[in-house]
Amino acid sequence: MQKIIHNYDFTRLAHDIKQAGKEYGFTKIGIADLNLSQTEKYYQRWIANGLHGSMDYLKNYPEKRFHPELLYPETLCIISCQIPYPSPVKPNHPIAAFAHVPDYSRLIHSQLKKYVKKIINIINCVPKVRVFSGSGPVMEKILASKAGVGWIGKNTLVINDKFGSYCFLGELFINLPLPCDAPTKNYCGNCTKCLDSCPTKAITRPHELDARRCIAYLTIEHEGPIPLELRPAIGNRIFGCDICQEACPWNQTRAKLNASVFNPATEFLHDKLSTLFLWSEEAFKVKAKGSAIGRISYENWLRNIAVALGNSAYSQENKQALEMRKNHSSELVREHVDWALMRLQNHQ
Ligand code: SF4
Ligand code: SF4
Repeated sequence: MQKIIHNYDFTRLAHDIKQAGKEYGFTKIGIADLNLSQTEKYYQRWIANGLHGSMDYLKNYPEKRFHPELLYPETLCIISCQIPYPSPVKPNHPIAAFAHVPDYSRLIHSQLKKYVKKIINIINCVPKVRVFSGSGPVMEKILASKAGVGWIGKNTLVINDKFGSYCFLGELFINLPLPCDAPTKNYCGNCTKCLDSCPTKAITRPHELDARRCIAYLTIEHEGPIPLELRPAIGNRIFGCDICQEACPWNQTRAKLNASVFNPATEFLHDKLSTLFLWSEEAFKVKAKGSAIGRISYENWLRNIAVALGNSAYSQENKQALEMRKNHSSELVREHVDWALMRLQNHQ
């Protein structure tokens, strides 16, 4: 490999590769080296303190996670790619904006694969390359910040000065000795809007998230009952949470997306909570297919909506919807419905 491409001007090549990525919807592409030693200690402390909640997969493969060359041997650098998705259709939507993008995971993977083909065309030989996107023990956000794709905001998300934080990330682990980019400046400054806006105080200090308190975790990753003390603060959120992103000034000034590789948003996500709550299990399975919502079980879907209905203003419609699930076969659902009915009464 080295022998074939030894005549390349790698600075020029890096430039051409970055330019080529735009064709596939990647609005910002940067190149990172493999040294993650600076973040390893912080990450291990975060895990040791239990802030990852029940996401035990985050403990897996610590060696590979911090040594990308062990995860994919012969990797010389990592090409980090950002792909923005549409901002929330309206503030306070009960379903996080990323979940409005149907089939995003498959689409990003397919765009990355096409991009690899293009790189092969550019260099005229086949490098050793592996595609990742939200998969494998990959420190995506750290790599993106190392590669200058954006900085890590106090809410722990990658923020790009043009597209804010409503962006997916993907990576190419590749055996090309490309010159690496410098991290961008961190523009959070004195701002604390994300910390102040979080209803469950999940951002315990700048750059530290207690996942166990985060609504995104509670509604997507968490199994079993939602802690009683956190239920009222969840408000109307039933799948994920965008509150700290909505508060971020960098999302308020984000550039307009001219074209998107993603399909238009799924219509049913605009249905009323009471309508979503009365879906049968079969309907849930059909509608959630290809959507991020399919990551949770039907039981957790009902659990989440029950909490949101309990937090809503009193209405006969919401009360009746809850009553229809009072005798649900799942104890988890029944307990959340009872809680919600009691809370709704207090709102009457
Ligand atoms: S996603 Fe929601 S709950 Fe989680 S940190 Fe942001 S505002 Fe808080
Ligand atoms: S809200 Fe402010 S502090 Fe939080 S990530 Fe955005 S700019 Fe940074």
